[in-house]
Amino acid sequence: MYANRVLSGMRPTGSLHLGHYHGVLKNWIKLQHEYECLFFVADWHALTTHYDSPEVIQDNVWEMVIDWLAAGVDPSQAVLFIQSQVPEHAELHLLLSMITPLGWLERVPTYKDQQEKLTEKDLSTYGFLGYPLLQSADILIYRANQVPVGEDQVPHIEFTREMARRFNHLYGREIGFEQKAEAAVKKMGSKKARLYEELRNRYQEQGDDEALESARALLNEQQNLSLGDRERLFGYLEGGGKMILAEPQSLLTTASRMPGLDGQKMSKSYNNTITLREDANSVSKKIRTMPTDPARVRRTDPGSPERCPVWQLHQVYSPVDVQSWVRVGCTSAGIGCLECKQPVIDAVLKEQEPMRERAQMYLESPSLVRNLIADGCEKARELARETMRDVREAMGLRYD
Ligand code: SF4
Repeated sequence: MYANRVLSGMRPTGSLHLGHYHGVLKNWIKLQHEYECLFFVADWHALTTHYDSPEVIQDNVWEMVIDWLAAGVDPSQAVLFIQSQVPEHAELHLLLSMITPLGWLERVPTYKDQQEKLTEKDLSTYGFLGYPLLQSADILIYRANQVPVGEDQVPHIEFTREMARRFNHLYGREIGFEQKAEAAVKKMGSKKARLYEELRNRYQEQGDDEALESARALLNEQQNLSLGDRERLFGYLEGGGKMILAEPQSLLTTASRMPGLDGQKMSKSYNNTITLREDANSVSKKIRTMPTDPARVRRTDPGSPERCPVWQLHQVYSPVDVQSWVRVGCTSAGIGCLECKQPVIDAVLKEQEPMRERAQMYLESPSLVRNLIADGCEKARELARETMRDVREAMGLRYD
């Protein structure tokens, strides 16, 4: 187990909209204060579905990073990088592919699901079948133990956990493991060593999960252990071999269903989005022309908010008093629809204002964005190299 480290990525396949802001970015902004966070542009993942239109990726990478920064992702708190600039991801993906049973990949629920949904694309490719494994490599290479996901992505984390276990089982057995682990216990100092042994016994003999957690915490606090010894002691604790790859946990995020301009979920494919930094006039126009309750043909017809997409936006953006003003005004025909839409327009513009301001600075000096991404790639690479040293050694590929 390693420091609480969060990893999350996004595919650069289009402009980000308010659905991304409410569904993902707000969560990232919160997480960056609570954990060590790594956020990456998943450009290789974008190629698994957009291999025939690389220009989409090229156009969107930098715009997406500016969107992140505009939304409040802070490069001094989180490491921001581009997946393809850390080629170790590809190496780990390849090495893991040696031990991945095909059936495991075919069983991942999103594989068939996506193939059926994206019928306009030929996804019977090796890259598409292997994308959950690439995701596993992304996570495992940073020994990230927390991965924010929605309910539908939980099977991917489960798959990653299985991959880590399989890897550790196959390659975590070194000659003289027991002796080396016992020597490492002694290095903890007699008091802590005794506590570790006691917790280990409680876990192994009585299956006491609390003891396991306490022992892990004890190892995480231990300053004087080398990385190798720490891995050995994590493995020794659970009765296995050396733990080279850490099993991640799903950090379940509550699903946010941001409504689009037509009441369906906001999504590029429904053409119902407001982009993150959309021009204020365009935002006002889009909301002013939104469809409303079809029963309100004339201003004097009473309506029902439940049948109106604007009401859904009020539920995201308006305080309780404005919501009750809408409810009363709509059902009694006391207010007109344009009047009703104004507080939503004001709230969206207010939300976007700091984003536009923050983005301006980066748009004016693109080198700022390039530099902070270059820094992020370097930091990410350092972490990735550390894991790859152990992986190569375990798989008999270390030649230095
Ligand atoms: S008054 Fe508001 S909630 Fe009612 S139909 Fe018009 S826009 Fe929709």
